[in-house]
Amino acid sequence: MSFTVAIVGRPNVGKSTFFNRLLEQRKAIVDDVSGVTRDRQYGITDWSGKTFNVIDTGGFVHDGTDVFEVEIRKQVKIAIEEADAIIFMTDSAIGITDLDEAVADLLRRATKPVFLVVNKVDNNNRYLEGTEFYSLGFENTYFVSSMSGSGTGELLDAVTALI
Ligand code: GDP
Ligand code: MG
Repeated sequence: MSFTVAIVGRPNVGKSTFFNRLLEQRKAIVDDVSGVTRDRQYGITDWSGKTFNVIDTGGFVHDGTDVFEVEIRKQVKIAIEEADAIIFMTDSAIGITDLDEAVADLLRRATKPVFLVVNKVDNNNRYLEGTEFYSLGFENTYFVSSMSGSGTGELLDAVTALI
């Protein structure tokens, strides 16, 4: 059985940083065979002896255009269809934005397990600021720094417990 985890969220929250960190352990970015997945990156990694696929979304989403929110919504919907679990990444340095709320609305309706990840928790102040994300109402909420790796182990333990 193959298990797929998709990373979604608005631009600049650190999705690709987290994806690259996961892939460092076992570099295997899957080539785009079909040519239609330029806005997503597929990889394979493992944690605690469990192998799973990871999708990094939003590579071609750019800030400041009207298509912006539409494009993110599209990415989230594809992720909900393709993935077995979803990592919803947000940014503790910025706080909750309208786009985070829009993504949260879509994910609340998903029947797949969602892990809300508050990223850029590089220090205790960021953690205190990041607790506002509990208000989005996701049962599984994790605080991580994709840059240092802090907190990512606990998150991956929880995600791979589903496999
Ligand atoms: P994406 O658009 O969601 O894929 O975000 P990126 O992975 O491209 O990261 C956006 C910016 O946030 C980059 O400058 C990263 O170096 C930075 N970043 C990512 N994770 C962290 C983190 O844990 N802490 C800090 N301070 N910066 C981070
Ligand atoms: Mg990215």
